[in-house]
Amino acid sequence: MKIAFAASLLVAFGVAGPATAAPAAWTQPMAPFQVIDNVYYVGSAGIAAWIIKTPAGLILLDAGMPEYVPTVEANIRTLGFKLSDVKILLNSHAHFDHSGGLARIKADTGAKLIASEGDRLALERGVYPGWEQDHSLDAPPVKVDRVVADGGTVALGGVKLTAMITPGHSAGCTNYLLTVRDQGAAHTVFFFCSASVAANRLVPNPQYPGIVADYRRTFARLKTVRADVFLAPHAEFYDLAGKRGRLRNPGPNPFIVPGEMQKLVAAMEQGFVKALAEQTTRSNTPKH
Ligand SMILES: [Zn+2]
Repeated sequence: MKIAFAASLLVAFGVAGPATAAPAAWTQPMAPFQVIDNVYYVGSAGIAAWIIKTPAGLILLDAGMPEYVPTVEANIRTLGFKLSDVKILLNSHAHFDHSGGLARIKADTGAKLIASEGDRLALERGVYPGWEQDHSLDAPPVKVDRVVADGGTVALGGVKLTAMITPGHSAGCTNYLLTVRDQGAAHTVFFFCSASVAANRLVPNPQYPGIVADYRRTFARLKTVRADVFLAPHAEFYDLAGKRGRLRNPGPNPFIVPGEMQKLVAAMEQGFVKALAEQTTRSNTPKH
């Protein structure tokens, strides 16, 4: 169990590596479903895309890979919504596996894209900052209509999401908090950006200036979050398939798992410490 968890994290940590082929699960279809309250899943088996329903239309958080967009759009329709209901697009972070589909969905829906200042240029240029020469990591460029700051809110139809920006995984990595209700009780949903090192260079030539300090601050901050429902960009971060399977069981919603987030944050922090040590050793090894 522990080994399987570690192995799945390794797979996840390897994501978005330069010139690596995308895992099959990233574009493997998954039937859309209601997660909890006004939150719906329209992503693939491996990569999340979330719908937050409001009385004034829909918010779509992340769009997946460019080639998966037709399936995301079909999933939105399968749930009984119209594409034109999508009013706001959000992005957890500007990596092609989560932002790649935004340009096309924006064109198809006319929705406004709200993103962090730290990720704005990456989205608008369609590049992975620091790996600009590796075009396998490019994404179709997409214009950001409004910038959201740390602690800022995104509101539609009386539904409010609060942004928490935790740079490291990307320079503008953005988590969102939302309060939902289930069986009469309020629960905090945390839409996680990620904090893995993945393809990022830490030393000696960092992916972007200040990345190591950013990761440290990010872990300190993420440790303070108390989430009841932990939702993440990659399925293996929160056992999407298992929880979805248990949704039909009677009893509490299986996506309510207080404390789950902190296990992943701790594992990712260990991954960061290890990657920093390895990259430091490599940079200190004389080359002949
Ligand atoms: Zn990423």
